[in-house]
Amino acid sequence: IGILGGGQLARMLALAAAPLGLRCHVFSPEKDSCAFDVVHAGTCASYEDETALGRFANAVDVITYEFENVPAKTAAFLAKRKTVLPDPKVLETTQDRLIEKDFVSALKIATAPYASVHSATQLAEAVKAVGLPAVLKTRQLGYDGKGQAKIAKGGDAIAAWRSVKNAPAILEGFIDFEREVSVVAARSRDGAVECFEVTENEHRDHILKFSRVPAKVTPALAREARQVATRIAKAFDYVGVLAVEMFVVRKGRQRTVLVNEIAPRVHNSGHWTIDGATVSQFEQHIRAVAGWPLAKPVRLGSRVEMTNLIGQEINDADRWLTVPGASVHVYGKGEARARRKMGHVTRVWPAK
Ligand code: AMP
Repeated sequence: IGILGGGQLARMLALAAAPLGLRCHVFSPEKDSCAFDVVHAGTCASYEDETALGRFANAVDVITYEFENVPAKTAAFLAKRKTVLPDPKVLETTQDRLIEKDFVSALKIATAPYASVHSATQLAEAVKAVGLPAVLKTRQLGYDGKGQAKIAKGGDAIAAWRSVKNAPAILEGFIDFEREVSVVAARSRDGAVECFEVTENEHRDHILKFSRVPAKVTPALAREARQVATRIAKAFDYVGVLAVEMFVVRKGRQRTVLVNEIAPRVHNSGHWTIDGATVSQFEQHIRAVAGWPLAKPVRLGSRVEMTNLIGQEINDADRWLTVPGASVHVYGKGEARARRKMGHVTRVWPAK
């Protein structure tokens, strides 16, 4: 299995492939990629290097990726030579927040109100249409709060526009959500879908800090959230694992979900499944791209909590080693830079 990208997601995919007897070959432009430590083969070359890409394609049976910003040209080049899963057309949608929101809306799935912004004039119109407070987000290449600027009620929209460097953007209504949840879903080559349990996510400073199951949601809301993820996976004719991030909001006396973002890959909010479920998101993804049947995921324990170890927090990882029910995952990255995801810990509480 060829994997584009060499970060912790590729590393955990390769670790999940090994017990199934499958070998992974990671392609990454960075020589200190932490996935290189655990794979059968590695190619360190640029995504524009067609000779290296050609060799990589010849060396594997199927290609997948660990991140959504694979350059379109790279994906197209590889897709001519080998099966690339999920299909690269999914990237065209998920690499652009406007196209993604339009795609979700066309499925009649709710999102925050939004409007396209590509000029200061259009921004003023968008503010009128969407209202304030709002968040201005660049259409491309934003993650962990990068390329985002909040505009408060009565705030300075032009300052926000300058702060995203006048890049094509969308203005999104600021959602006063009750909680944030995600659904990690897997779809096999024959169209079967298996969703993991709805996961509750807590961000700090725009970065995921905790994921918890069970989420504090009603069975009806959990069903709605799983249906949203399933419909998105089907609409893409998706093969592999995807994650749908959602806001839970009040609607009168009821609660409902708004889709925030789709990640066409394994996702941080699914890391708890390695230790906390009968099958992990990584194994499900490997099974799907290998053309194998999916497993039915069942949670182990009464509850599970995943804590990200960010930046210097990795230096205290050893204090978790003796905590009952805790599993420590250190990604083996080099420098513990601020905001960098360095590892995670999963705690599983025994079933009652
Ligand atoms: P994103 O990069 O779109 O996933 O946003 C990162 C985080 O910022 C989300 O998980 C939310 O906590 C917050 N956020 C993003 N968009 C909105 C919004 N429209 N309203 C309120 N909070 C938001």
